[in-house]
Amino acid sequence: MRFASLGSGSRGNSLIVDAGDTKLLLDCGFSARSVLGRLARLAILPEEISGILVTHEHRDHIAGIFRFSARYGIPVYLTHGTHVAASQGAPAECRLIDAHAKFSVGSVEVSPFPVPHDAREPVQFVISDGLSRLGVLTDCGVITAHVTLVLAGCQALVLECNHDPGLLAASDYPAPLKRRIAGDFGHLSNAQAASLLQQIDTSMLRHIVAAHLSEQNNRPDLARRALAQAINCEEDWIGVASQEEGTGWREV
Ligand SMILES: [Zn+2]
Ligand SMILES: [Zn+2]
Repeated sequence: MRFASLGSGSRGNSLIVDAGDTKLLLDCGFSARSVLGRLARLAILPEEISGILVTHEHRDHIAGIFRFSARYGIPVYLTHGTHVAASQGAPAECRLIDAHAKFSVGSVEVSPFPVPHDAREPVQFVISDGLSRLGVLTDCGVITAHVTLVLAGCQALVLECNHDPGLLAASDYPAPLKRRIAGDFGHLSNAQAASLLQQIDTSMLRHIVAAHLSEQNNRPDLARRALAQAINCEEDWIGVASQEEGTGWREV
């Protein structure tokens, strides 16, 4: 199994997981046209994609999703709450998922798990090909006991490092927006992501990618340093998904 970010940040998020015969997109927060270009960079055709998993209805996760899905006949997997909030009038084929129940798409097992975030029924995902597990966690206000339980022992993690609290406090964002981002239904700071790593078994971890970095309220070097200190590794071992480029492929 391998994975790559198509781009990550407040202007759009999407990740692709490739288990050979099954390829899944996780979120699609770019225009359908932009997704095509980003997939081409990774040498993937849209016709190869078996399904699109959706975390929640915020625009940076669903912008092009229904158009892209309808154009290529790709089913969209989402919770009832996300469906109600996101897909009115959408022609796409939607499959409702239970936020606590595993399901399979082709050869891949998908385990959704609920997270605290200011959306209707947000989830994040652990994806497994039976050999390795990739855990993805973005758009989460606070680390819960359930989050630490499901992300323990993964071989790869894509982990939100949204902001540095000092940069956020000093930024010119309006006060209510600062409170929302830093609140329990907002986004993880570098320190919160680091504390997650300290709470879970990371002995099997072969890849970690910091994601959903704020372009104004964070810097890649700050995210890298926080995560590297938490697991006592070299800073350049920590990957960072950028808004424009995402990441290259990583073999799990
Ligand atoms: Zn987001
Ligand atoms: Zn969100």
